[in-house]
Amino acid sequence: MDFNKYKQLLFNNIKKQAKDWFETGTKKNILNEDVYRFVHSIKGTAGTLQLNELYEIAANLLDELNQGDKVWKIYEVRDFLYPILQYSYEYENFEDTEVVNNEEEGNVETQEKPVIHLIDDDTSMLILLKDVLEKQGWTVIANKDPIEATNQYFDTSPDCLIIDLEMPEKNGFEILKDIHEHNEKKFIPKIIISANHGREQRIAAFKIGADDFIAKPIDIEEFIVRVTRHIQRKQLFDKSVLIDELTQVYNRKFLHDIYQRQLEITMDRNSAFTVAMLDIDYFKKVNDTYGHAAGDRVLYHFAQFLIRNISPADTVFRYGGEEFVILFPNSTIEEVKIKLEGILAKYQKIEFNEREQTFTMAFSAGIYTIMEDEPHLETVLEKADQALYKAKNNGRARIEIGNELPKIKSNNKLYVSIIDDEIIIRTILTKIFNTVTSGFEQLDIAVFEDGSKFFESKRHEIDGSHFIVLDGVMPVMDGIEVLQKLKALKLQEKFLILMLTSRKNKNDIERALSLGANDYLTKPFNITELHTRIQHLLQGIE
Ligand code: GH3
Ligand code: MG
Ligand code: MG
Ligand code: MG
Repeated sequence: MDFNKYKQLLFNNIKKQAKDWFETGTKKNILNEDVYRFVHSIKGTAGTLQLNELYEIAANLLDELNQGDKVWKIYEVRDFLYPILQYSYEYENFEDTEVVNNEEEGNVETQEKPVIHLIDDDTSMLILLKDVLEKQGWTVIANKDPIEATNQYFDTSPDCLIIDLEMPEKNGFEILKDIHEHNEKKFIPKIIISANHGREQRIAAFKIGADDFIAKPIDIEEFIVRVTRHIQRKQLFDKSVLIDELTQVYNRKFLHDIYQRQLEITMDRNSAFTVAMLDIDYFKKVNDTYGHAAGDRVLYHFAQFLIRNISPADTVFRYGGEEFVILFPNSTIEEVKIKLEGILAKYQKIEFNEREQTFTMAFSAGIYTIMEDEPHLETVLEKADQALYKAKNNGRARIEIGNELPKIKSNNKLYVSIIDDEIIIRTILTKIFNTVTSGFEQLDIAVFEDGSKFFESKRHEIDGSHFIVLDGVMPVMDGIEVLQKLKALKLQEKFLILMLTSRKNKNDIERALSLGANDYLTKPFNITELHTRIQHLLQGIE
């Protein structure tokens, strides 16, 4: 039997009751028998619907309840029922997300999938080839306008270029020539496809830099095999020139490419992307005391040690001398900080032996999470470097964060406004703010169902420090509209805003950040993560 409809009804009832008790403002106290009846009915229904975990939760709560005529305060009931609300949220949001997670894992593995740039003015051919290439799991940038195509080529720097020879405005020869002249030193396989495949034509193509020539009509099977071989060779080539000889990790030449590619993926997925800049502490002393060969050994060991201690999705680059960059796609700043602190602690325990002496080493790191609309690598590295400088200044052997939080002055009270149309989220957030630690003596917490209710309350006019947790999608007045209004009122600077948004909505996130949101979390979120994030943001307020 399909219980889904009934489960939905149960969750709706839970929400209705929560709203009635916690937010209508009409009740000051709640009778024990009402609490008992509520939990009892959840236990019964959950059991019937085979929601075993919820059944257990309700049964345990019921055991704690006495039959007496205690009168409950609202906050007591909210804390007491919290396990049920948390379960409801997680069940509704995560019960069938297994598939989504699997997809994400798949993406991680294919993160460095080849990018193919395809240029053909014949639309039906373009679509056919794009489909065929994408079926191989490759990313295809297809272009039918040859002039635009040339520009795009320089932006994307693909792993393979496929050009049709006969195009009206600018023919394949010219494009190939342009690209070849600009890019002689770059190894990018260039494949010509052409209906005109006479001897003269082929020779001319090879002369100006083509690596292969495939005749139209195209034999798709052979086409795929040839493209695959070109890509494999390109990857082999990349490996051989892009690895730093001494340390055997990528050198900085490769940083830009990998960064761009990973950035696009994280943007598409709305996931976090954190960059770390590491520098060995007092490395010069190794050279001075034990000689350069010893220094080289320390460097090689350090790079290999890093690789062994990060996950395969993360990439290490030797940035220069004893400086390394690590890209952590998919990791928040907190996660990277914790990870690197673990790595540092482990590194400091390693004993090096040179000239019959034993010594230990340490490193400092600056980390930065990409937040802006257009995060150029240069800017990102600069931020990470500033944080590294701070780490050195603060005594070395530590990790510092380069992201800035708005300077809000704490004057004992923080106004927390939770704006979300979901009662369960409002309740969970209220509980979180009641349990976090902060430098404030008091958190004044208020909840609103949508943006217009928030503004009607005139809460934003209160002079003082504000923290807003804002839902992206709400009826009446949504999160973006709230941000727009705060911006128009020139208030967004004073407010620390955490945006809750749906995973899919990349545009909304970009909008939100450019309108002054300070951080965002995608729904559905893990409650522990939400807690950590809020704690972290609160710590940033001085
Ligand atoms: P700090 O804690 O401030 O980072 O001090 P440090 O001594 O680590 O930093 P500093 O920048 O003063 O010195 C880095 C030294 O690393 C200078 C350079 O001679 C040495 N170095 C750079 N590349 C190599 C290399 O490939 N091999 C060896 N052995 N030494 C290198
Ligand atoms: Mg053509
Ligand atoms: Mg150093
Ligand atoms: Mg240095």
